[in-house]
Amino acid sequence: MAKLAVKIGSLLFCPDCGTLLNLPQDGESEVLCEQCGHEEPASSYENIEIITHSHPDAFPSPLRQKRKTQTKVHDANEAMLKVTEQCSKCGHMEAYTHEAQLRSADEGSTIFYTCVKCKFGWRVNN
Ligand SMILES: [Zn+2]
Ligand SMILES: [Zn+2]
Repeated sequence: MAKLAVKIGSLLFCPDCGTLLNLPQDGESEVLCEQCGHEEPASSYENIEIITHSHPDAFPSPLRQKRKTQTKVHDANEAMLKVTEQCSKCGHMEAYTHEAQLRSADEGSTIFYTCVKCKFGWRVNN
């Protein structure tokens, strides 16, 4: 069974290498990781679509305002920690880090890094 992207706020990261995935283009059924070729089904983006531009008329405006500020930027920034870590691709010294949730403790934990500058991703197993 294929692994699915790691979601941090409204951003999706490749489960294999941690690279920040692009949004699917219109009509595309999957998004290809530029780095390792992982195929992420476009359906993974459905929740994000719903949160960011869902039926605006379904909510009264104060609530709509609230939903708007809560999603995208805010959540993503809170969930992503910026650390000093050198990107092996462009040499930039800042990377976002996030730890993957693995099902069993036996698998240990995997920390993903994503370069702030070029979005190159890599992972470190503990
Ligand atoms: Zn990848
Ligand atoms: Zn980089």
